[in-house]
Amino acid sequence: MRPAAYRYPGENSTLYGTLFLVFLIIAVTSTATFFSAALLVALVVAITYTRNRSQHENLMCQGVLVSSKTLPELNKLVESCAKRLNVKDYEVYVTRNRQRNAYTFGLHNPRVIVLYSSLLEIMDRDELAFIIGHEMGHIRLGHTHLNSLLGGMAGIPSSSFFSAILNYAFLKWNRSCEYSADRAGMLVNGNPQKAISALLKLITGKSGMSEQDLQKVYQQVDAQDSTWLGNFSEVFATHPLISRRIEQIQQYAQSPAYKKLMAKLQR
Ligand SMILES: [Zn+2]
Repeated sequence: MRPAAYRYPGENSTLYGTLFLVFLIIAVTSTATFFSAALLVALVVAITYTRNRSQHENLMCQGVLVSSKTLPELNKLVESCAKRLNVKDYEVYVTRNRQRNAYTFGLHNPRVIVLYSSLLEIMDRDELAFIIGHEMGHIRLGHTHLNSLLGGMAGIPSSSFFSAILNYAFLKWNRSCEYSADRAGMLVNGNPQKAISALLKLITGKSGMSEQDLQKVYQQVDAQDSTWLGNFSEVFATHPLISRRIEQIQQYAQSPAYKKLMAKLQR
């Protein structure tokens, strides 16, 4: 005797109806979630765009736009860096600041690079070229606008578990971007040793350091970064540990890929 022989006639049709409803509800709610997420991303982009504009306007009032009239030496260096990476439509500003930092922003052209004035005091020409090249690398590699966009997506409200995963992935991507930008800086200044000393001077804030001084600082930094706490802290940081960046610079400097690109640039 088959079970179908005594199954109540409405059982199967109700089952199919119920299954259809389940899929329909999944489709409707996921579409709604998708669109609300898309809307949220659009909102974040719009906010970033407006914030960028006001940042730019503030800079125009407070910072000095690098040009052949305002800072001719620096302007020449900036132009040669831009030529090397083929970066167009950018502006470089110098702002008075004791901290040692440089960054780039902008969802639209011109992209803006900001150099803190202390960098001009402590870095020599090749070190500065590395820093400018690093920032131009962010522009050329598309990090500047991707960062705003992806940052917006990573900020989508979700359960704390998913938002932790998103945040982790976003920060990991951020750190990879820093390695790529360091490579750009190396291609611009063509001097890996000066790329390393620029990173070490960002820590010490001192100008005119001897080879030995720099070596000592590197050893200290390396020892600090090698601890459990040092390694752990990187997970929550937008930038890799300085010792890791130096390691990557040394490795890339030895690679056939770097040598090939350098030969191409020198031609
Ligand atoms: Zn960077």
